[in-house]
Amino acid sequence: MTSFKTILSGFLIWLGCVTSAAAIGLLRDSDIEYALAELARPILTEAGVSPSSIKILVVDDPKINAFVIDTQYIFVNSGLILKTKTPEMLQAVIAHEAAHIANGHITRRLQNFRDAHTAAGFGTALALMVGAASGRGDLGYGLAVGAQSASQRALLAHTRAEEAAADSASFKYLRRAGIDPKGMLDTLNLLRGQLNVSEHHQDPYTRSHPLTRERLRNVEVLIASDTQSYAPTSATYWFHRAKGKIEAFERDPNWVVRSAKSAPTADLRHSKAAVGLMRMGKLDKALGEIKAARNLRPNDPFLTDLHGEILMRNRAFKATVGLYAKAAAQAPKDGLIQANYGRALLADGQSARAVKQLEQARHLDKRNPRMLQDLSVAYAKVGKTGNASEAAAARYALIGKLDTAKTHAKRASDLLPRGTPAWQRAQDILFAK
Ligand SMILES: [Zn+2]
Repeated sequence: MTSFKTILSGFLIWLGCVTSAAAIGLLRDSDIEYALAELARPILTEAGVSPSSIKILVVDDPKINAFVIDTQYIFVNSGLILKTKTPEMLQAVIAHEAAHIANGHITRRLQNFRDAHTAAGFGTALALMVGAASGRGDLGYGLAVGAQSASQRALLAHTRAEEAAADSASFKYLRRAGIDPKGMLDTLNLLRGQLNVSEHHQDPYTRSHPLTRERLRNVEVLIASDTQSYAPTSATYWFHRAKGKIEAFERDPNWVVRSAKSAPTADLRHSKAAVGLMRMGKLDKALGEIKAARNLRPNDPFLTDLHGEILMRNRAFKATVGLYAKAAAQAPKDGLIQANYGRALLADGQSARAVKQLEQARHLDKRNPRMLQDLSVAYAKVGKTGNASEAAAARYALIGKLDTAKTHAKRASDLLPRGTPAWQRAQDILFAK
């Protein structure tokens, strides 16, 4: 698992959550992202959008929030995942955001906003996060960052009409997918206390998704009208897998090891204990637990990857390379796992192979600052200094340090052959506003 600060600051400002342009963190973990994708898949299908085209990303923030800004990502705060008690509650949140996407609530507004302004009017830091839409490498369309204005907040806050539409659409998606929509009410009840709080002190979620008594009543009526019965699904497993992994990395390790005993399946009990023990530095015990988990799910790339992480902390680099190679073979399309294999190669001194592996990882998932840092180091080790500067520039841009990014981009532009894709990426950062 890696957690990093990225340049989502603009979203926060729009949502009115913070008063300064502090960057917020994304929690990138392929295991968690896969589990969330499993929870989302039946819902996205019912919403008429392709499950493979939308990724659920976790924002490392204890507050309750979930939001969309384009048609590619649904952002969910770790705090929301930790506070939900059932898979249906989390699936209700995903269904609600999917409804905002399917109905074009945000994207239409942003498209209009974009059409009305030139790229120069936006600033570009945020574009790095959402830039893939334009197909232009790391820098795509720009969205305003930095200025805190009511109009920008309004841009990302939903109207009451949009909330009503999203609630009734998500109710439909959930029922059709065979998921008990009662989770909608359970989640809104988490926020009920917000009704009596002035707007200024509300949770980010209730500011972006206005909660009114009328909205609550409408959802209650919807739920009361539902006579469908629901059978248990695999969602229970994936919910506990995602939530358990976040807990395992974020909560006190002693608590993690204790709470592992009450995980619903044996593999989750072992893998959660493994993370807790690893964080306590009890690496031998952690290895015992991860091996037990892998015996139960030998083809699970995320458990193989976690085994690699524990060995990496043990500085057993040779064995680590073998394990990450296996995880990479088990999940050939997973950019985070491919990047971990590259990291292991780099740590083992195999710089040329690391370059190749990390380039492949970057192709699959470019929003990974740690991969860019490793790639920069690997390029430097094989003497490709221009590429090393370009990778460093991309990394600093991704974490919102645009000034440092430009320094590296300038060096990369001077060193790289004009017109090559890497030179072009450096130019994009150099001239980003
Ligand atoms: Zn909403």
